Amino acid sequence: MAKNDAQPRIALLGFNLESNRFSPVVARKDFEEDFHLVGEAILADAAKDAPRVLGTLTGFIQTMNGSGSWTPVPILMTSAGAAGCVDHAFYLEVKDEVRRLLEAELPVDGVYFSEHGAAVSTEITDPDGDLFAMVRGLVGPDVPIVSTLDLHANISDTMVDSTDLLISYLTNPHVDQHERGVEAGHAMRELLAGVKTEKAFIRLPLVAPNVTQLTASGPYGDAIDLGQTKIDDTIMNVSILGGFMQGDTPENGMAFIVTARGDRDAARRVCRELAERTWNDRHRFVPQLTSLDDCVAMALDIGNDASKDSILIADVADNPGSGARGNTTWLLKAMHDAGARDVILGPFFDPPLSAEARERGAGATFRAQFNREEQSEFSEAWEADAEVVSLWDGIFVGRGGATAAGRRVDLGPTAVLRVGTITVVVTSHRKQALDSAHFESFGVSVVDARTVIVKSRGHFRAGFAHIFPPARIFEADLPGLSTPNMKNYPFERLPRPIFPLDPDATWEPPTQ
Ligand SMILES: [Zn+2]
Repeated sequence: MAKNDAQPRIALLGFNLESNRFSPVVARKDFEEDFHLVGEAILADAAKDAPRVLGTLTGFIQTMNGSGSWTPVPILMTSAGAAGCVDHAFYLEVKDEVRRLLEAELPVDGVYFSEHGAAVSTEITDPDGDLFAMVRGLVGPDVPIVSTLDLHANISDTMVDSTDLLISYLTNPHVDQHERGVEAGHAMRELLAGVKTEKAFIRLPLVAPNVTQLTASGPYGDAIDLGQTKIDDTIMNVSILGGFMQGDTPENGMAFIVTARGDRDAARRVCRELAERTWNDRHRFVPQLTSLDDCVAMALDIGNDASKDSILIADVADNPGSGARGNTTWLLKAMHDAGARDVILGPFFDPPLSAEARERGAGATFRAQFNREEQSEFSEAWEADAEVVSLWDGIFVGRGGATAAGRRVDLGPTAVLRVGTITVVVTSHRKQALDSAHFESFGVSVVDARTVIVKSRGHFRAGFAHIFPPARIFEADLPGLSTPNMKNYPFERLPRPIFPLDPDATWEPPTQ
């Protein structure tokens, strides 16, 4: 053990990006907008009431603090959330900075990554594995490396081989980030005490569309629940990662990682059983979506009949949380043209429109031009008469659902527009709707709306659960950068054949 037996020195690291290969490339500015923290600034942020770093890191730090002495060695924590590929030159800058900072702190006794795991660079498909491998090379084979991962991570052999333990979220929406950080802290203590891990890893030729990756119920939830029944004195962790199909990498495919305390056969046995059960269940991963016509018909009906319960329509194809632009107009235009009553929609990402509303001022009426500067083929320009209802700085603290609760949200200068029968929350930062505060913070009532349209894929479910049970939530089948309809993507690098894109894809369990 380095320097001081009583005070293990644990390096803290994290590179967080979920790359949609069909979205615009991101670099330093995009990371700094979410967070890019170096050295002590990481610990300072983690200690705040509403930190920007992930709950996994704060959970890890709290657990290490509460379970003995240690010395945190904060290196670098950065995140651009969900976006496009990272510019490779910027990735190399980050990698070099990590190398330089970590080398200066060696030796360390352990490394903890608060990582997403679905990054893609403009040149390599597995920056997460590349970073893990570099850190392994620096710290040597005997220093424990533990990483928490988003369950949308795409897992490579390099990621598995370079680490001692990978712990993915068990929930989607991701309400267990803190809990997984706590688990990582306890596991780190075990590894520091000398426990050695053995891992088994299977990747299925199965790419589950995001909307089939909910964990409260359905095939993915069933797989995760079964996995958790295997945890015992031997099996330390079972992580089942749905992955992120829009990454379009050779590492795509549902991943099963089973980590055992020293027992390779046990890890393999459990891993194989879980993968086999899920593969036999694969037909349940084909998404059930609602057509635009049906969405409009429902909104019209409910807008005209106060005795019926309100509904929520998720524009899952345009989810900023999956790297989409948050500004497609199909639902807005169709609801407007149909005159569906009491519809609210947001967040709609359109900085020039928000700025124009600000210039004109509250109460002004004008011809609103949506997407006047957008380049994406899905972000079609559209215009309509609008009134500026109210103007906001866009900053609030998330309320419902643990993915947003207590975290500072910044949507940038925000304008509430009335566009015919539709109330639209127009923002300057590209973010998904995580909870009802994304409307209520701007004076837009969610409980009074008849139809709520959110730019989000699944995380909103935790933050709207107090109003909308699953039976009143509909996922729209529309074009967009995050459509769950796999046939809409020009995939180039997915391993083929892969289910459900290739319905006849086959898989045989490993023989040992
Ligand atoms: Zn995720």
